[in-house]
Amino acid sequence: MQGLKKKIERAQVIFDTLDPLYTREKTALKYITPFQLLISTILSAQCTDKQVNQVTQALFEKYKGPGDYLKVPISELEEDIRPTGFFKNKTKSIKGCCQGLIDSYGGQVPSTMEELLKLPGVGRKTANCVLGAAFDVPGVVVDTHVKRLSLRLELTQNKNPDRIEKDLEELIPKERWRRFSDLLIYHGRDVCKARRPAHDRCVIFDLCPSNSI
Ligand code: SF4
Repeated sequence: MQGLKKKIERAQVIFDTLDPLYTREKTALKYITPFQLLISTILSAQCTDKQVNQVTQALFEKYKGPGDYLKVPISELEEDIRPTGFFKNKTKSIKGCCQGLIDSYGGQVPSTMEELLKLPGVGRKTANCVLGAAFDVPGVVVDTHVKRLSLRLELTQNKNPDRIEKDLEELIPKERWRRFSDLLIYHGRDVCKARRPAHDRCVIFDLCPSNSI
């Protein structure tokens, strides 16, 4: 296994190689307020950002604040978010989260990890997405792409997202945490796909211990 120093150097080169290739948008999700971003992020689990944006266009017209999501019956909200998939679970998360926002934070989205994690339906991935994009708080977002690429690139040996988050934080300076996750997400979507990684057009081929899987 590679020592920490070597791994840090390799992570930096991976960052510098991928950085110029991908857009600098903080998120492809369309939102105006932190609350809208929180809802979009919950909806984005197992769903493309494009599909989420299509759904939220009408959703954000109908539901303005946490109270609006609580007023409607479960079945109505389920129908409104159905195209994003896993709509029963997501409805439960949104309702729980909105109730938590009203009960604990006066209906406002809090800006710390600790507070966000107290909301039902909000895990570290969602919290880091919201903190990074809405409040500029550094954080490593570990979604399915970041998990897969971190393992393939041997930047971690862990499969648990919380531990991967910690491992990546050790390798990359704080101000680059968010961007590094975004780069792995973009590279995972475009090139290093789950089923068939396109090694032949991978710019970090020489830095990757899994370039022959
Ligand atoms: S060489 Fe292959 S496995 Fe490694 S990052 Fe590139 S596409 Fe993924």
